[in-house]
Amino acid sequence: MKTVNLAVLAGDGIGPEIMNQAQSVLRCLKKAGVIDIQIQEALVGGVSIRDSGTAITNSTLDMVKAADAVLFGAVGDYSFDHLPQSQRPEIAILKLRKELELFANIRPIIIFNELVSNSNLKEEVLKDVDFIIVRELTGDIYFGEPRGEKIVKGVRYGFNTMTYSEPEIERIAKVGFKLAEARKKKVTSVDKANVLETMQVWRDVVSRVSESFKDIELQHMYVDNAAMQLISSPAQFDVIVTGNIFGDILSDQASMITGSIGLLPSASLNESLFGLYEPIHGSAPDIAYKNKANPIAMILSTAMMFRHSFERSDLADLIEKAVRLTLEKRVGTLDICKGDWKEIGTDEMGNEVCKELNKLC
Ligand code: NAD
Repeated sequence: MKTVNLAVLAGDGIGPEIMNQAQSVLRCLKKAGVIDIQIQEALVGGVSIRDSGTAITNSTLDMVKAADAVLFGAVGDYSFDHLPQSQRPEIAILKLRKELELFANIRPIIIFNELVSNSNLKEEVLKDVDFIIVRELTGDIYFGEPRGEKIVKGVRYGFNTMTYSEPEIERIAKVGFKLAEARKKKVTSVDKANVLETMQVWRDVVSRVSESFKDIELQHMYVDNAAMQLISSPAQFDVIVTGNIFGDILSDQASMITGSIGLLPSASLNESLFGLYEPIHGSAPDIAYKNKANPIAMILSTAMMFRHSFERSDLADLIEKAVRLTLEKRVGTLDICKGDWKEIGTDEMGNEVCKELNKLC
């Protein structure tokens, strides 16, 4: 059995609490003899600033680069809000994305049957919802130059540049088409080609890439329409591929379909499928250190890691099944508890998932 070397960066707020539960899941799998895993941990975010004056040290970056994958909790601590952006805890995640060239962000939008009534959408709208958003992560208006502020004739302007090169679009489109091959074989490319030249290039390149994936249906959709369709008929989607800024907004919108931000995992991959796996939520300072955080998004992030970085879909399936079986017992953390459900804490939720996993292993 190949030893997997994992870098674990728990971070701030609820990060360490939920990461403990993800590590319990890994220990279960190790004890069952289905994986051999070595873990190296380091500080990141606000805790790292307190320890060494920077949100991520060079030695942590070196450790991460030498690992096979990264499990990341969350960063963010309001006590650093007075600092310039470049010195805040959140800079750690941007640095990791840049240094590791993590250009593809993958967010599955999963509906758990037991939690359908937690969503603001009607049950019939949620039926059969199962899609993935693939967001380009290292380009677009967030990184385009020139950017800045200027004064023209006494009037203050802010400006940013939306830009994508053909190779950038091609590589993210391929990620989407490859994912669709193993799913329902449909890609929806979201753009704004009716008004933005950058997005016309986007549409042309995605269409060209689709010629190499003859069995995948390609649909183009303008972003404003996509925002409506996500709410009116989300079950139509299989794989949505989109740029950085549209993906940022649409993926947060889509996460709300499921009912709690504490449920959804994500993967950020580079071309060699090296991945950073993290929940989609932040450090949730309002509930930190209270044993209230939902660890499911973090636990499902480990499932994604086995699927995308280690070609172990069998283990990903096991973890996902253990989570489903746990929810079937109608136990949950505060964010998902309702009616006759039993409210339990972060630790107990992790224990329940491990119990189910032990039975499955
Ligand atoms: P947040 O995602 O941390 O919290 C939003 C709301 O969701 C809060 O009410 C919180 O209690 C709840 N929530 C989040 N995760 C939960 C979980 N696992 N279980 C139960 N409830 C959960 O977003 P925010 O409050 O806007 O930001 C807090 C900090 O996190 C900020 O410093 C922000 O910059 C940072 N942040 C970091 C990341 C990251 O590390 N990738 C992402 C987003 C925000």
